[in-house]
Amino acid sequence: MSNAIRKAKRYAERHRSLKARLRGIDNRGIIVYGAGCVWWDVIENAARTRPPSCPFCGSVLFQFDSERAFWFGSEAYEQTHPGYIALTKWLKGKCFKTMKDAAVAYELETGIHYETEATA
Ligand SMILES: [Zn+2]
Repeated sequence: MSNAIRKAKRYAERHRSLKARLRGIDNRGIIVYGAGCVWWDVIENAARTRPPSCPFCGSVLFQFDSERAFWFGSEAYEQTHPGYIALTKWLKGKCFKTMKDAAVAYELETGIHYETEATA
């Protein structure tokens, strides 16, 4: 098998596995996420303050125009942080101060360990 074919096959495999991991994404609507927490969800689920905020802790929010944009770059991050996509999908609608706190709760609920960076 030539290198080019091997490369193309590897690319196709990675693309398929990403599609599988991101299955179920609803690409309609604005996605918001906490500036001071790791909560994220569709903007309709944000607290109806002005401006909208995290419904749990009141954090200010940042936004993406779509869920596709929210997930952009997640595959690259997943390569160096295995389990990131699964944890982030689980995280939707849940408020934690840090990824480390989220990872602890995630592990308690699912039994899956996610290695956060020291600073996260
Ligand atoms: Zn929050």
